[in-house]
Amino acid sequence: MKVPLLDLKPQMELLREEVLLALNRVVESNTFILGPEVDALEKSVASYCGVSGAVGVSSGTDALLISLMALGIGHGDEVLTTPYSFFATMGSILRVGARPVFADIDEETLNIDPELMAEQLHADRKRGSRIKALIPVHLYGQCADMEKIMRLAEEFELPVIEDAAQAIGADCPFVADGQVTWRRAGAMGLSGCFSFFPSKNLGGMGDGGMVTSNDQNFIRKLRIFRNHGADPKYYHAFIGGNFRLDAIQASVLNIKLKHLDQWHKSRRQNAETYNRLFADAGLLDGQVRLPEAVYQKVDGAREHNHHIYNQYVIRVFRRDDLMAHLLEKGIGCAVYYPICLHRQQCLGGTTDADISLPVAERAAKETLALPVFPELSDDQQQYVVQTIKEFYRP
Ligand SMILES: *Cc1c(COP(=O)(O)O)cnc(C)c1O
Repeated sequence: MKVPLLDLKPQMELLREEVLLALNRVVESNTFILGPEVDALEKSVASYCGVSGAVGVSSGTDALLISLMALGIGHGDEVLTTPYSFFATMGSILRVGARPVFADIDEETLNIDPELMAEQLHADRKRGSRIKALIPVHLYGQCADMEKIMRLAEEFELPVIEDAAQAIGADCPFVADGQVTWRRAGAMGLSGCFSFFPSKNLGGMGDGGMVTSNDQNFIRKLRIFRNHGADPKYYHAFIGGNFRLDAIQASVLNIKLKHLDQWHKSRRQNAETYNRLFADAGLLDGQVRLPEAVYQKVDGAREHNHHIYNQYVIRVFRRDDLMAHLLEKGIGCAVYYPICLHRQQCLGGTTDADISLPVAERAAKETLALPVFPELSDDQQQYVVQTIKEFYRP
């Protein structure tokens, strides 16, 4: 049996007619950059995320970059972020000339640990407050502990840029007086950065991204930076860039957004099926650690931190051998991510060489992403778990 890590074909089959009609409409319109399709997508994504504004950009990477640019962050500044993420999180900080500072991740969720962020922020205050922004990442589709992170942001008066590239539609519980209110990824910080890379839960037919915000001034600034910093045209008060979204991507995404909640639901069901199959296979005493969709206690009830499972990531011993075994048996799997950001060669001395972030470093040795795409079948999931069982108990 073959089980790809991600199969986009069923989705495209389902939407083929509608997508071709939309592409045709764009061809006829002769409006290829920004325009009505992008306007419509910005409105729908803003409403889906529960924010007042959204700005379509060229990629998730550029969503992060433009957020930092619009904040005026650059040389001499530092940005506090997680060491365990896709490179773009750190790359955007370095590209504006700032320096990344890291707080280690939480053992359960692999998201940045707010207690360790607090330590960094207190130390930074003593040194003269070089940290100018916080970038938590909602890794794999589960929100970081935003309630605590937003409290820190308030205390230290720092803007939060959410790297929500993997987490569109994830909900985060905020608890006050025993009451829960839900806030959506991208609606908590100053800005939320989304990616429409084809492998994300909402993926285009090429590159694309979006920045969300509830701050109208910030939204206005992002629109200016997206277009070379021009306001009005040919008058440049800022140095922006070409970070525009194109109409073809927006037209496809406008169609796919309507199905997103259904796809999230299927991914959650697949995650639950794996959890049950791993337990039934007796693999939970030492061999396999399941991803934790963390719960908060509210008056004795447990509230879910709503995961959208862009990736279903287990932690295992002898990870690289297991991965080779699965690939040989026709099962797609991947490591997100094998090297921590603070260990990347390109840093070449811009961060402390002896920095130790043990939780992230252990994660880099143990994580393994399994197929979890919406159309994955029960048989395929059984085969994945059976094959993992064979590896540990030949
Ligand atoms: C995918 C991703 C990005 C970058 O998005 P692109 O659209 O590929 O530029 C940034 N951060 C994280 C956490 C991602 O997963």
